[in-house]
Amino acid sequence: MLKTPRDWPLLQPLGLLASLGLRACLADNVTNLAQTPLSDRLRSLVDTVQHNERTLRRFQNVELRLIGSQDFASFLDTLFGHLPHEFSLTHVTLWLDDRAPMLLELLEPTALRDLDYASLKTSREGGLAAQGLCEEGRPWLGRPHELDEIARQAVFGNARPPSSAILLPLSAADTVSGYLCLGSDDPERFAEGMATDILERFASIVTASLDNVAHRERLKQLGMTDSLTGLANRRYFDERLREELMRAVRYGVPVGCLFIDIDCFKRINDTYGHQTGDRALAAVAACVRQQVRLGDTVARYGGEEFAALLQGDRADALTVAERVRLAVERLDLQDDHGKRIALTVSIGVAARTVSCAPSEAVGLGRAMMEEADRAMYQAKRNGRNRIEALVKADRDQTAR
Ligand code: GH3
Ligand code: MG
Ligand code: MG
Repeated sequence: MLKTPRDWPLLQPLGLLASLGLRACLADNVTNLAQTPLSDRLRSLVDTVQHNERTLRRFQNVELRLIGSQDFASFLDTLFGHLPHEFSLTHVTLWLDDRAPMLLELLEPTALRDLDYASLKTSREGGLAAQGLCEEGRPWLGRPHELDEIARQAVFGNARPPSSAILLPLSAADTVSGYLCLGSDDPERFAEGMATDILERFASIVTASLDNVAHRERLKQLGMTDSLTGLANRRYFDERLREELMRAVRYGVPVGCLFIDIDCFKRINDTYGHQTGDRALAAVAACVRQQVRLGDTVARYGGEEFAALLQGDRADALTVAERVRLAVERLDLQDDHGKRIALTVSIGVAARTVSCAPSEAVGLGRAMMEEADRAMYQAKRNGRNRIEALVKADRDQTAR
């Protein structure tokens, strides 16, 4: 008789299902397949599929909450509150290695004191013990009470350990920045030999989300975020512009920028009020952010003006600009009475493939932005809700 996935290696994926709290149709039915009427079997199958679909959707929701975390506290709330609740876990612990550069800001003693989460650990001893269990960076699964005393103490402390647990390394580009431990009262939930693909993918999402919140916290600490839109502010943009131009010079890669200005915004304020104007600003900001790549920089450059710094040449920048223009035009923002508010933007585009001395990079970045600004004014003169790039194409391509 089939008991656990470990009894039959071909059914390893069933272990994967169990670790997520999913039901395995085959295992449920295989023992009494012949005796059960077909209609009952079908009903049980449909129940199982529906249960699994709901579970997977909840899992995806947790992942989306993590990815969307705006700060460290909400990231930890999802991990320590939402995740165990949704997946009947009795234990979630996160170890962060305070030597990982991205985490230095998050782990400042004052920041940690404010957060005061018992499940957040930074002890080097715990991290080393976790590292010892996760051979070659692979997850460890099993029953903590079968571990030797020292390892168990280091990983689970003095509290009663869960009946089974999985320890997942949080790694990116071969660097492990911490470990995530999930535990259950069910001794069969996490067992050696189970497939761990989905939970490893989950660990990558946790790592990327951590990186993201660390980045956001850094901006906040440096006073570089705009509170209304959540975007970086002009000061941050100017710093990134300098860094990106240096990078462009070093590697000979093209760099582009967009200068985006909301059309007739004063009229939006006058018609709908300042508060709705603020909502419109935040909506356009989010819309622009969505249209560029993760590594590109978008900032609120002025009142109703945004700037984007893009990797790629003039043609790439024009493509992104058109995407932004269309997306804003299609935004479905409503006033307090549910009436749609039409919004459009005018965009100036400039790009450079740089070949100059690094010392000239800063001036070049500034010149590129000024050019995009002038192009934006040209778009205003030519009727708004449009994109312009200055005609001197040769200057756009190569600057010396
Ligand atoms: P154009 O198409 O020529 O750009 O016209 P415009 O009305 O958008 O440009 P103008 O420069 O005349 O007005 C910009 C308006 O943006 C005026 C200002 O009150 C508004 N604004 C700037 N910052 C904010 C803000 O934080 N919130 C709100 N609600 N409005 C803002
Ligand atoms: Mg303006
Ligand atoms: Mg404007």
